[in-house]
Amino acid sequence: MARVVIRNLNKMYNEVHAVKGVNLEIRDREFVVLVGPSGCGKTTTLRMVAGLESITSGDVLIGDTVVNTLPPMDRDIAMVFQNYALYPHMSVHDNMAFGLKMRKFARVEIDRRVREAADILGIQTLLERKPRQLSGGQRQRVALGRAIVRHPQVFLFDEPLSNLDAKLRVQMRVELKKIHDRLGTTAIYVTHDQVEAMTLGDRVVVMKDGVVQQVGEPLELYNAPANRFVAGFIGSPAMNFATVGVTEQQGAIFAVGEGMQLKLPSPFAARLQGHLGKQVTLGIRPEDLRLASGNDADGLSFAAVVEVVERLGSQILLDVKVGTGTMVAAVEPTIQAKIRDHLRLAVNAERLHFFDGGSDVAI
Ligand code: ATP
Repeated sequence: MARVVIRNLNKMYNEVHAVKGVNLEIRDREFVVLVGPSGCGKTTTLRMVAGLESITSGDVLIGDTVVNTLPPMDRDIAMVFQNYALYPHMSVHDNMAFGLKMRKFARVEIDRRVREAADILGIQTLLERKPRQLSGGQRQRVALGRAIVRHPQVFLFDEPLSNLDAKLRVQMRVELKKIHDRLGTTAIYVTHDQVEAMTLGDRVVVMKDGVVQQVGEPLELYNAPANRFVAGFIGSPAMNFATVGVTEQQGAIFAVGEGMQLKLPSPFAARLQGHLGKQVTLGIRPEDLRLASGNDADGLSFAAVVEVVERLGSQILLDVKVGTGTMVAAVEPTIQAKIRDHLRLAVNAERLHFFDGGSDVAI
């Protein structure tokens, strides 16, 4: 096991600057997830750590060794990909044993490691089968097994669950977490799925256009996103955004937007002082909106018209019109609401977010 350090890493594909000055320190035994939309450079970053892609500039260290020019097989890493790439003519046992055989491990040791991995993955009874006799989930386990038998310093995962159906993905996600808990091997995991990132990662790295936007523990990203992009990317349904002007009236600070005039509690008032008279972006998570009751102050609620009601069982999502904009409110499942209802929504004032109107950086 080892830490992985990425220092000022860049990748150019001709004129495409795919990875831009990435700096990361992945601690020994840590599970770090790189997440971002398609094309943000997460796979390219992982492939440079693996040695499958050349480095344009910067350094990758595994343990204390700079591995920039080491071939993949000398880096003591094991990769698991989206397409399991099992050898169809070989049994599960031989698929898992193959890498060790190539490395000239003794037969007894190979057998010991294959059985140990099969135990961890619960595939002891499948060892004699061929890949075509396995379900997708079982194949993915074999692909994991092939990585586990190597006892590598670092696991690198590239969207390993995306070929599985939704239910199996959730199940394998839990298993991956258990396996990591048991083995404690340092892991870097790439996905475009923010739920996967939030549930698997000790820390999550959010990327966009080749640039790291924020690194943090899942709840840190959720509660204190560094900018509007992270705020919108992490969380489902996504955060609502509205452009508001910051004004002062009789010593109180207000956020005034279409269809709303919110009187801000003192911590926000202090933070927004420097933005008086300017337009900023207000962010409200759907679960921080609820139906207003008589006790809710006017300054923390606004009128809305229901456009769509999505009943999810555990909660109801109300798509509402506020002024000419739209918002989503996640409300109690017992709420009776219909299309075209006029209602008032109250905000959880402690949990508002504000972003600079120009730079989109959190205020
Ligand atoms: P996805 O989730 O779609 O795989 P990603 O975040 O992993 O996306 P990368 O595959 O790292 O993104 O690609 C980053 C950028 O580099 C993209 O703009 C992509 O088009 C470009 N790119 C990737 N591989 C090559 C290549 N071999 N030649 C040229 N451009 C490439």
